[in-house]
Amino acid sequence: MDKLLDSSKKSFGDWGTALSTNDLMLNIRKNLSDNGFQKGNSRLVFSVCPDDVNRLEEIDTVENSITKKYNGEFHLGGLGAYPMGGVSGIIAASHHPPEDTMGDDHKHGNLIFFVSPHMGIAIDDAGNELYGKILRPGQTKLTNSCGAMMGFLVALKECGSPEAFTIAADTTNTDPTRIALHYELINNYSDRLKAILSVENSNQQVVDLFKLNYDVVMNKINQMINIFLEKEKEHFKGKIALIGGIIINVPGGDRFVLKEISYP
Ligand SMILES: [Zn+2]
Repeated sequence: MDKLLDSSKKSFGDWGTALSTNDLMLNIRKNLSDNGFQKGNSRLVFSVCPDDVNRLEEIDTVENSITKKYNGEFHLGGLGAYPMGGVSGIIAASHHPPEDTMGDDHKHGNLIFFVSPHMGIAIDDAGNELYGKILRPGQTKLTNSCGAMMGFLVALKECGSPEAFTIAADTTNTDPTRIALHYELINNYSDRLKAILSVENSNQQVVDLFKLNYDVVMNKINQMINIFLEKEKEHFKGKIALIGGIIINVPGGDRFVLKEISYP
């Protein structure tokens, strides 16, 4: 029995499919190979938070499983999985996939986007599940996961509403992801933020926050892919796969809530 997987299933309901890393890999590999995407003809493009918990060696992580299987990644993601690499990053990545040599003609290689915010679940001394928290390797105190989004939630609660939230200026231009992420959240998702503030159960509030994090990142990625395809239609002849969901950082290794695998 996998208590944390069951808990993720219950919390996310029909939003997505909660899977072990193993089952996720079986699912991804079958789906991608059925659609012609292989290690030898594709490059991974990741939009995942830089937080080391997603790729530490001593943790059985989703990211390590996928990159091991598909030979590394081009990384677009900033804090909160926000795709800071942008259209320029996607254009750069589009010049990197190995050519498809499986048929008679050499064809342009493909891009496999993997887009995922991450959310921790910790267990406190009384056995309660604390969403948005993790116990990191070598530490004894709980910390936030994802720190960028949980920090934003704390600040938003202190302000009481998206309207009262002031995005602190970055006059030295030294904190670009925070500005981009907060700008997007406050200016384009204020109704969703109000709904999140009104949720009383703290674990459910965190689940709703990460569903929003997913939508922010996925909408932005889709917008970037559309601009990329329009700009590079003469150059890029490969195919695109898009895998989206939420990494669940829990003791004993990641779980994953799979939202979609699509071929835009
Ligand atoms: Zn993070």
